[in-house]
Amino acid sequence: MITATYDFLLSSGSAKIYITGLVFIALFAVERVVRAAKAPDDNARLVRNFGLMAIIFLMSPLIIAPLTALGANNLIWTRPEWANVGIAAALFILIDLVLLDCWTYWMHRFYHRVPLMWRLHKVHHLDEFLDTTSAFRFHFCEVVLSAILRLIPIMILAPSLGTVILYETLLVVTALFHHSNVKLPNRVERALSRIIVTPSIHWVHHHAVKADTNSNFAAVFSFWDRLFRSKSRAERDLAMKIGLESIEDKSLFGLILMPFIGKEQ
Ligand SMILES: [Zn+2]
Repeated sequence: MITATYDFLLSSGSAKIYITGLVFIALFAVERVVRAAKAPDDNARLVRNFGLMAIIFLMSPLIIAPLTALGANNLIWTRPEWANVGIAAALFILIDLVLLDCWTYWMHRFYHRVPLMWRLHKVHHLDEFLDTTSAFRFHFCEVVLSAILRLIPIMILAPSLGTVILYETLLVVTALFHHSNVKLPNRVERALSRIIVTPSIHWVHHHAVKADTNSNFAAVFSFWDRLFRSKSRAERDLAMKIGLESIEDKSLFGLILMPFIGKEQ
């Protein structure tokens, strides 16, 4: 059973890689032409971000997919047959996507609040500019921890494995979008921001001022910050300093080691 689940994950996982790969290439190209903020001439930053991205990609089939297979094979209940057909199935998929995103929102809040989790998440926030490469700039231990923590809603909600993969694809595509430096017409961005997290909303989360860093935690659906009162009042200003107060970005090797050494900041 675990092997069959793992095979399913790998095949649907490759669909996820194709989709997110195409979105990444498209946004990476567009943000170089229609950009919101002037990009820094900093190839070292791109090396760091691509380096962290490469580690995550290598680990995914070896650690992340087997972890999800483990959760999918240890559900605490199974849904009745009627929940898997017709309108009920569509409704359940929608509810599953919303609840999985609620989990992601709270997990992100805890990454900011719990000192040991912040040590990992800080690697993402030390980026001093935002573009599509920032969406994959995570410490690999954060990616593993998030996959372990996501086993909880998977085992409790018992969604289909397809829905989990669909949510993960949606999460990566939205993360690519809200980290991107693509300039959108104001009216389009404002309309989109009522439902999903847009670059303007997430830019404020990366503002190097603690009150803003500890706000705008939503990942896919933007209403969580309004619902749980964590929406910053600040509007995106392209002159805002991106990164963290009183600490500078590090080398790729320095970022990999950072969670395990040094003091809390
Ligand atoms: Zn964050």
